[in-house]
Amino acid sequence: MSAYLDHAATTPLRASARAAWVEQSQRGGNPSSLHTSGRAARAVVEESREEIAGALGARPSEVVFTSGGTEADNLAIKGTYAARLASVGARRLVVGGTEHHAVLDPVEHLVQSQGADVTWLEPDRCGHISVDDLKSALVATLAPAVGATDALDVAIISVMWANNEVGTVQPVADLAAVAREAGVPFHTDAVQAVGQLPVDFAASGADLMTVSAHKVGGPVGVGALLARRDARLVPLAHGGGQERQVRSGTLDAAGIRAFAVALTEAVAERDVEAKRLTALRDHLIGRALALDLGISVSGCWTAGEATDRLPGNAHLLVPGCEGDSLLYLLDAAGVECSTGSACQAGVPQPSHVLLAMGYPEAEARGALRLSLGHTSTDADVDAFIAALPRVVERARRASGAA
Ligand code: PLP
Repeated sequence: MSAYLDHAATTPLRASARAAWVEQSQRGGNPSSLHTSGRAARAVVEESREEIAGALGARPSEVVFTSGGTEADNLAIKGTYAARLASVGARRLVVGGTEHHAVLDPVEHLVQSQGADVTWLEPDRCGHISVDDLKSALVATLAPAVGATDALDVAIISVMWANNEVGTVQPVADLAAVAREAGVPFHTDAVQAVGQLPVDFAASGADLMTVSAHKVGGPVGVGALLARRDARLVPLAHGGGQERQVRSGTLDAAGIRAFAVALTEAVAERDVEAKRLTALRDHLIGRALALDLGISVSGCWTAGEATDRLPGNAHLLVPGCEGDSLLYLLDAAGVECSTGSACQAGVPQPSHVLLAMGYPEAEARGALRLSLGHTSTDADVDAFIAALPRVVERARRASGAA
């Protein structure tokens, strides 16, 4: 059995979610059908919608089911851009520099294909996006001929709740308040935050929020965009008009049921689990640093202090190594982890997140992300620490640094 330290990529399916998925998939029925099994499937979807909304501080009518985080991010960015372009002619996006590719790539797509402009909000060395920088970005983008705030040429602001690579947690409510005052829709990708941090959609002040089932122990392929009732979204796909006419396609009743069960369990366990994972993570970091291999920690971290970091995230920089070599050597030693975003695995480039945070390319190349979750134990940390010295030595030799 490998030590699995890649929960930020995907976390194992919870037994309760698996049972719920099996039960609902055996029942069948299309939630849009009007006969008995269709109505039964619809009842399951609506009950699940209520549970998901309740767990995230949203109203059931604000939950738009999608195929996961990527689709929800695309819908938020492209759907809001199209709506704001049509209604107020807004062509600019204001976006955090450490976003996941599920946000970055739709933004780049709008730039390439529709002439959109972007103002990037650059993080500090910890990965924080500053509220003052957001304010300046909005002032700087006021339409020149008009002074009123509702004449901003900004279509949407998007800043993630917590970063998937370095685990930095953003001041989402403060950023959303600035957006609200300027009259610009605010989106946050909360895929990594949900289940690890208290996430309340209404209290956050965000207009749009992305969540994904497989990061909380639900199945892959289900997620949601939480969208306030007054959020205007142009659909990306056209068809049956499901989900407020915004996201057509037959609803996956079994996946949605399993999502609700996993999320409810993750949120119920969160306080206790966050403490346990923070302690386990600090133990892992402390032991890695004590090996005297020149390793440093990126993101927000000070020994023994609470910081704006996801409880389960440890992100190490190992000088003189390529992250990919470390990953493969650790894998061969029975330890599964990542160099950063799983969605970029296989592309040997330094992380855009670390570069945006000001790390030189050479340092950014030695990145290793260890992410803990609901199945993590001391034994996983022991396996990693036992393998690390030999792995670093071999990775340094491979890169000619030793
Ligand atoms: N956003 C963030 C921050 C993520 O970490 C991920 C997955 O790694 C996604 C979006 C994409 O979510 P999904 O895998 O459900 O498409």
